[in-house]
Amino acid sequence: HAKQNGRARWMMFDQTMQEGALRRLTLEAELRLALPDGQLFLQYQPIVSPKDGVIRGFEALLRWRHPVLGMISPVEFIPVAEEIGLIGEIGGWVLGEACRALSVWQQTSASVLSMSVNVSAVQLNDGRLVELVTRVLGETGIAADSLKLELTESAVMADPEHALAIFKQLKSLGVRLSLDDFGTGYSSLSHLRRLPIDTLKIDRSFVSAMDTHGDKRQIAEVVVMLARSMGLDVVAEGVETSAELNILREMGSDFVQGYFYFRPLDVEAVVAALSRQNAGGTILQHQQLGSE
Ligand code: C2E
Ligand code: MG
Ligand code: MG
Ligand code: MG
Repeated sequence: HAKQNGRARWMMFDQTMQEGALRRLTLEAELRLALPDGQLFLQYQPIVSPKDGVIRGFEALLRWRHPVLGMISPVEFIPVAEEIGLIGEIGGWVLGEACRALSVWQQTSASVLSMSVNVSAVQLNDGRLVELVTRVLGETGIAADSLKLELTESAVMADPEHALAIFKQLKSLGVRLSLDDFGTGYSSLSHLRRLPIDTLKIDRSFVSAMDTHGDKRQIAEVVVMLARSMGLDVVAEGVETSAELNILREMGSDFVQGYFYFRPLDVEAVVAALSRQNAGGTILQHQQLGSE
């Protein structure tokens, strides 16, 4: 009986593995068609000042809606794109699309807005990133300092010398640089100090339930202090509750991003949120004037 049981388990394991491999092969084949077929699109998650709740910028987040498979997470398909050599093309499209969107929104927004774009480790190393960013800035005409490139701490620390060389070139264009998912990699402080970065993004894993987990709160606090001492901004990602928000406010996090304020939004919802904000700003000004 035990033996039979074992064999059943083994067969299940084997089947799961086959399904995994099959899914993977399917995604590889389908991903090649996704961009030309218009299946990829961006959502934009507002990055908010926790003091006044005002939207200061957005992070562009890539989405894939497959006609049969449905929505597929970037966590699943970005690694596939990296492996089959598609991330350069896809990443180039994301950058252009996000900067075009920003150039439109900036024209109607009362506050200065920035756009954060995720850049893959593969793009950091493919030798074309600086050229790509130069071209997109030229084509869209957005101010270079309104573009923020997000690179994960682990991508950067995998080869800090190379990252430094590319970062220097990117900084000379005037764009800003963020270390994403900060706290999950292994930063060397000496490398960190030498990198010309502008922002640390506290990883969601330290923000989620930070009100009931002292260890998470402590890590977040260390990141905020580290950023302070290096003159960098801090963004906390994944803020879902008012308890988390209040802690981050007290810590002095410059910006927050998370479901508490906004989920990633479609373009139409961004436009609506910005026009609400503009209208609100006008009312506030009137009230202030009126009370003087
Ligand atoms: P990330 O850059 O750290 O992006 C933040 C992720 O946290 C996003 O997941 C966002 O939807 C999610 N998030 C934000 N606030 C909350 C919250 O309050 N609660 C929860 N549970 N989640 C929240 P998403 O969109 O699934 O993206 C996952 C990752 O995929 C990104 O992590 C990034 O590493 C990668 N990615 C997304 N778009 C791109 C892209 O255009 N290029 C590259 N290279 N990577 C991308
Ligand atoms: Mg990011
Ligand atoms: Mg992140
Ligand atoms: Mg993250």
